[in-house]
Amino acid sequence: MRDVQAIVIGSGVAGLVSAQVLAKHFRQVLLLDKDQMPALPGPRQGIPQGHHFHGLLPGGLQILNDLFPGFDADLKAAGALTPQPHEFYAFGEEGKSYSYLRHQPEPSEPIPGFPQLHMQSRYLLEHCLRTRVEATPNITTRYGTAIRDPLIRDGAVAGVVVHNQGEEIRADLVVDAAGRVGRTPRWLEAMGYARPKETHVNCDFAYTTIMFRPSEPDLLKDAGFFVMPAKSGRYIRRSACLVKTETGDWLASLSGRLGDHPPEDLEGYMQWAQTLCDPAFSDLIKTATPISEPHHFKFPRAIRRHYEQLKRFPSGVLPIGDGVCQYNPYYGQGMSAACRQTLALDKVLTGFADRPLTDLWKPYFAAVFEQIRAPWLYAALLDFAHKGTSGDYPNEERKSVELLMRYGQMSLNGDREAARLVTSISSLMAPLSAIHQAHLKEPTP
Ligand SMILES: Cc1cc2nc3c(=O)[nH]c(=O)nc-3n(C[C@H](O)[C@H](O)[C@H](O)COP(=O)(O)OP(=O)(O)OC[C@H]3O[C@@H](n4cnc5c(N)ncnc54)[C@H](O)[C@@H]3O)c2cc1C
Repeated sequence: MRDVQAIVIGSGVAGLVSAQVLAKHFRQVLLLDKDQMPALPGPRQGIPQGHHFHGLLPGGLQILNDLFPGFDADLKAAGALTPQPHEFYAFGEEGKSYSYLRHQPEPSEPIPGFPQLHMQSRYLLEHCLRTRVEATPNITTRYGTAIRDPLIRDGAVAGVVVHNQGEEIRADLVVDAAGRVGRTPRWLEAMGYARPKETHVNCDFAYTTIMFRPSEPDLLKDAGFFVMPAKSGRYIRRSACLVKTETGDWLASLSGRLGDHPPEDLEGYMQWAQTLCDPAFSDLIKTATPISEPHHFKFPRAIRRHYEQLKRFPSGVLPIGDGVCQYNPYYGQGMSAACRQTLALDKVLTGFADRPLTDLWKPYFAAVFEQIRAPWLYAALLDFAHKGTSGDYPNEERKSVELLMRYGQMSLNGDREAARLVTSISSLMAPLSAIHQAHLKEPTP
């Protein structure tokens, strides 16, 4: 362990998990956030996306369980739902389906080795994570502390400067987990370095979410469902999701893309819901009472910052989480993908145990790149399947797509090993390289 201090800017999911990883390698970790944290699970200004559904993929939960043993039990004890595969489904034009990618009228057999699905609000998840992180002896938290600038000494980042007071806090490594705003590109520019190149997928996506209180607690027996877009006609860009939360209320989101965004007012919301390709969503919310205002969130584009292509980078700072890659939220990957990035952080810090941190950035960005490939590719392929999506098609992953199609087809034909491989990658349990390392044989006819 290094007898020095690391700082994490931002106490969102990426920041909390990074702090826990850094605590294995640094004597002291200081976790900073501009917000004061609520005592109970609840909204805060720095996480405006928290009003919307936040699914945690098996890959994310697995990493959290490894880092915080028994974390799934914490979630469950705090009220998280633990649905079986038949209790969470989708409605499409062909009716009820247990797959979101095609019509599948029967639930799939669970794949052994996958963690039980846990469903909870973003607030609850963050609260449980924060409780664990705050109990780690060598992590100190300081909330209500907005960071303005890097502290620069001898051309390297040597800490941070606090907004307003101008207070300087020294550190041997600063991890920038401040979310979508991403301070690092601006800091790089100010220090005379190039900004990373960006890849964009212009999905032009938006959610409107309202919390509803059901008239009877068990009116929705299961955990929730999606309503998929229609396959043809005027409403091919509209979808919805309704989930039970830990409070028993329903979180109900309408989503639309490419100019067809859900309305921001209650009346418009209720009318829009009736245009979905299945009435399940509209029929349920009509029986319930809205207990929140409509929360609208626009997500114009997914952004990937190619730090791994930079030739020069200052020592002392590493970005992580949404600041490196932001995915279309519809596919529920951001938190789990951030967890996978912390694996990269852990791996390179372990490799650098006896060495100065100066060149840490090179292997770190290479390892982060590998973790980002799968979620980025999945989201980009699904977004580009919608006519009208513009941006950078992932042509560089042609071979990966070919392998995914081949193993995906084998999985549909009942090959359990292929199903396990493809699902491991799509649920972020394994990186995309796993598909290139696999040598599954198609059965000879
Ligand atoms: C509408 C929507 C729905 C989503 N749904 C899902 C989902 O279903 N599943 C999923 O896995 N992901 C989802 N995501 C993505 C997910 O929210 C993020 O990917 C994930 O939270 C990781 O983000 P982060 O920790 O990098 O940043 P954030 O969670 O945004 O946290 C950034 C933190 O930095 C703090 N901060 C910012 N500036 C400063 C500063 N100057 N000084 C100090 N602190 C600062 C903020 O207060 C905040 O606490 C969704 C995103 C959106 C927008």
